[in-house]
Amino acid sequence: MIQAILQRLALFLDSPLIPWKRLVLGFSVGQFVFENWLLMRQYGVYCRNVRPATLEKEVDQETFDKSQAYGRAKAKFSFASSTYGIIRKVLEIQFNVYAHLWAIVGVFMANYVPAAYGGEITQSLLFFFFYNLVSTVIELPMSYYHNFVLEKSFGFNKMTVNIWVMDKIKSQLLTVAFGTPIGGGLLWIVKNSGDSFFYWIWLFMCAVQLIAVTIYPILIVPLFNKLTPLEDGPIKEAVNGLASKLNFPLTELQVIDGSIRSSHSNAYFTGLPWKKKIVIYDTLIEQQSKEEIVAVLAHELGHWSLGHTTRLIMINSAHLFIMFSLFSAFVHNKQMFSEFGFHNEMPIIIGFFLFSEVLTPSECVIQLFQNIVTRSFEYQADNFALKLGYKTELATALIKLQMKNLSSMDADYLYSSYHYSHPILPERLRAIGWKGSDHVAEKSK
Ligand code: ZN
Repeated sequence: MIQAILQRLALFLDSPLIPWKRLVLGFSVGQFVFENWLLMRQYGVYCRNVRPATLEKEVDQETFDKSQAYGRAKAKFSFASSTYGIIRKVLEIQFNVYAHLWAIVGVFMANYVPAAYGGEITQSLLFFFFYNLVSTVIELPMSYYHNFVLEKSFGFNKMTVNIWVMDKIKSQLLTVAFGTPIGGGLLWIVKNSGDSFFYWIWLFMCAVQLIAVTIYPILIVPLFNKLTPLEDGPIKEAVNGLASKLNFPLTELQVIDGSIRSSHSNAYFTGLPWKKKIVIYDTLIEQQSKEEIVAVLAHELGHWSLGHTTRLIMINSAHLFIMFSLFSAFVHNKQMFSEFGFHNEMPIIIGFFLFSEVLTPSECVIQLFQNIVTRSFEYQADNFALKLGYKTELATALIKLQMKNLSSMDADYLYSSYHYSHPILPERLRAIGWKGSDHVAEKSK
């Protein structure tokens, strides 16, 4: 049934009447204009100098002004980098950069790769790694500016140039290490499983997703950060107490040295269903009291108890299924390939690249939908912590996090709906019924 529909769709889409290149250009420019229009709305909010009513008692004017200035600096940077990005993309599309790069890799293979290792899969992987490397190099000035000018001027960047360079090199190596089996596997399945390939690549990617969430904290995080067990003491006791109260299968409690890169703070949990690990940023321990750390973790464990992670994985899988099935209607589209400079061959990987460009508008809508879901999860997790009796601690922890991270104190409605996976602080405080610091005063009496 699905296959029949997809075949009809494929026939319909492979038509000279569809101007693929102009469509893709239009989508990209449209996305750029739309996102920068939202950014301008948000910039207006960053220019306000009056604190939102909910935060009047919580945040002093100086911190508010600083956070507004940080917001404006980030907005300007985002405008510059998206302009840079759109110029690059338009040039890439207009001048058939994929086709040229594909040909260059072909010549390279003819000269340096033994015929026995040749073929489309090898060429695709080399194409992908080369494209990724060039992209990273092109983006280096932006990345440098972001860390060593923008973040540094607000006191967040703790990274040395050395760490930054090593991070880039490690990421490239990881792309090759993981890209080879995953990319190679995907291409092999598409080439060998006929018209129903989308079903098999979907199963493959679901498996990859599950393996990734399992090995990421074990293999990848330690390449970038140092994890040490949390020392015995009141914080450890309190966290263990919370975990056992909730029947959370906590087997490891670690501190991560987030402070080597940034003074932004956080906490999270990972692991298998029966064996969980909680990781706390050293910056969080430094900035918050014991009770506040426990309140932050009560929120995190709320995500676990309410099954949010599982639900997000399921939503992701459904999204992948729709994408891959639609992809199967695009991958043999001669018209689309030839418009982008591929007249004699239709490499699958290029199909993936072009397809993701075609999908730009629907991906924007999906992003909006995903943020609605994650924001509702945030409210639920806050409410979970509230029911455990951490109202005051959670509120003060959130306020401190907000102040230390200089997160946006206020947001344009449309901008936050589209971009924010978390509700902004005034919304969260309102939702937990926080009436202001008088509570703290009352409590300490
Ligand atoms: Zn959360």
